[in-house]
Amino acid sequence: MTHIQLDNLTKRFGSVEAVAGIDLAIEEDEFLVLVGPSGCGKSTTLRAIAGLEDVTEGTIAIDGRVVNDLPPKDRSIAMVFQNYALYPHMTAAENMKFGMRSVSDYSIAEIDDRVADAAETLDIEELLERKPKNLSGGERQRVAIGRALVREPQVFLLDEPLSNLDAKLRVQMRAELLKLHRKLETTTVYVTHDQTEAMTLGDRVAVLDDGELQQVAPPQELYDFPENRFVAEFIGEPAMNVLPVEVRAEGGETVAVHDGFVLALPGVDRPSDDVGVASGTAATLGVRPEDISLASTLSDGIDTFPAEVTVTEPLGEQLLLHCQVGGDEFQVKVEPRSEIAVGESVRLGFDPDRLHLFDRSTGDALYHSATQREGGTAGVDGEAVAGRDGGVATEARPE
Ligand code: ATP
Repeated sequence: MTHIQLDNLTKRFGSVEAVAGIDLAIEEDEFLVLVGPSGCGKSTTLRAIAGLEDVTEGTIAIDGRVVNDLPPKDRSIAMVFQNYALYPHMTAAENMKFGMRSVSDYSIAEIDDRVADAAETLDIEELLERKPKNLSGGERQRVAIGRALVREPQVFLLDEPLSNLDAKLRVQMRAELLKLHRKLETTTVYVTHDQTEAMTLGDRVAVLDDGELQQVAPPQELYDFPENRFVAEFIGEPAMNVLPVEVRAEGGETVAVHDGFVLALPGVDRPSDDVGVASGTAATLGVRPEDISLASTLSDGIDTFPAEVTVTEPLGEQLLLHCQVGGDEFQVKVEPRSEIAVGESVRLGFDPDRLHLFDRSTGDALYHSATQREGGTAGVDGEAVAGRDGGVATEARPE
């Protein structure tokens, strides 16, 4: 059931359009993450849902009721901010009670009970009498979450709540937030610029750029079927490689021609029918670093092409190679103990099920070769695309 509905949500600050007409339905009990680069409008969207920002156009409905004119305190939401926003002169317990005091519906005993319950949930019972200056960053963040919990809101809004914590604590708090969400099952909207945080926390992830919603999908779908080049490059670390190619019909096949290789596009009979472009059209090929392999590890039937290693980055669990292919450089993840040196020539091949093609001018996805979707193969927007049995034919471009 839809819990929060944004229709054409638009917010302008003078000439700056921070949020440019967002339509988004957030389901009951869902953990939805808003992610995007700095300045894309994610905090403004969250603040508008909270009622901390007036809306220029469009509507926000919670539980089917338009709340545009409702003050924040009447929206049954609780917000947790990046900077914790704790009062320094109050103890942790006093900070947690603070919002409740103004609500006359609760007795003092009831408020104390709620603080005790929240403290137990967050494992901060020992810290309740301390003031914020005597708490670590992680402990302060727990108190800030505790303050939101005691209000038992219908919706949690969290704005980069982990970004002041060190890397290790962030990972730990991430897991705790997930456990907390599983326990409370409260609709949650979480803002972050960190795609790893978005992927690990969200039931669904909404990617924003320049005030516009780019795609909303469960994390794996976003990763496997990005609807445009922005999403493809924003989600995933290191980013997806993007290479200029020309789509051509050649010898009964449709191929992507790069100056370092010619790659058959599995499942594509005719470019105009299956990819939506005429033969000879310039496009962008997208391949993730983990979907390119050294020839020695590839199965038979997958053709390979030569590349020169320009940089090696040992990541511990994998070795990242920067490879020059024709006029472009791209990144390839290989086995960590592969003994490959800078300047070495290698042969590489692409995973035929993990190819993406984007329109060169609009960036829209034209084609995904993945065959993992329910019911077999799928193209852009779930359209069926006939699978091709064999491997992918890649051949070195003749000199
Ligand atoms: P960050 O990750 O850096 O916090 P964000 O995605 O949350 O970024 P917003 O804070 O929503 O982005 O800002 C979106 C745009 O609106 C930015 O260009 C910002 O400069 C502008 N903006 C935000 N608040 C105001 C304001 N009060 N007055 C004028 N412009 C604003």
